[in-house]
Amino acid sequence: VTFDQLGLSAPTLRLLAKIGYDHPSPIQVALIPIALTGRDCIGQARTGTGKTAAFMLPTLEQVDSERGVVQVLVLAPTRELSEQVYLESRKLAGNMPLNFALAVGGRPMGRQIDDLRGGAQIVIGTPGRVQDLMKRGHLRLEELFIAVLDEADRMLDIGFRPDIERILRACPKDRQTLLLSATMPPDVMKLAQRYMVDPESVDL
Ligand code: AMP
Repeated sequence: VTFDQLGLSAPTLRLLAKIGYDHPSPIQVALIPIALTGRDCIGQARTGTGKTAAFMLPTLEQVDSERGVVQVLVLAPTRELSEQVYLESRKLAGNMPLNFALAVGGRPMGRQIDDLRGGAQIVIGTPGRVQDLMKRGHLRLEELFIAVLDEADRMLDIGFRPDIERILRACPKDRQTLLLSATMPPDVMKLAQRYMVDPESVDL
């Protein structure tokens, strides 16, 4: 399988060639075509499998660069993982004129607030700081249309369930939700049942 069989746009395919992604990984082959249809997806995948590009490539294709509002939110369990997702996402955005904000704890809020005020379309962060920014009125999710829960099992292990639920309830109902998790314990399935619509499961 090659990237050009997955439904990605010509500019994305050119970028992938340029950054040396020659072949899609199994999770990318499985997830990208479904995510591009706008359907909710559950992907069982560990770190190192290329899962970030699996959810970010179809997501980036749907973002409107002309609109300086938050369109995508990625929640991740830790600062380190959020940073990795942020860096990989910026790489995958190539020279698309998109603005990203990293919303993680342990870092000054000022820069994060500036990034949001500057028209960030894609926000990546941990549930605690994301909620803080929402409460203070800096992060608005009314125009969001894609929510990603990355490493959902780890987020629930850490105890982020109430935060995740409050954040998802602040998002428009007709959004697309993508959930990635290395394991699928009952609490992850329950979260999916409550906050996703007829999700397609992809496990490898
Ligand atoms: P992840 O599982 O998302 O943390 O990705 C693991 C590593 O694989 C990252 O450094 C990515 O840049 C890289 N990667 C992801 N997809 C591909 C691909 N199709 N070809 C080559 N490298 C990739």
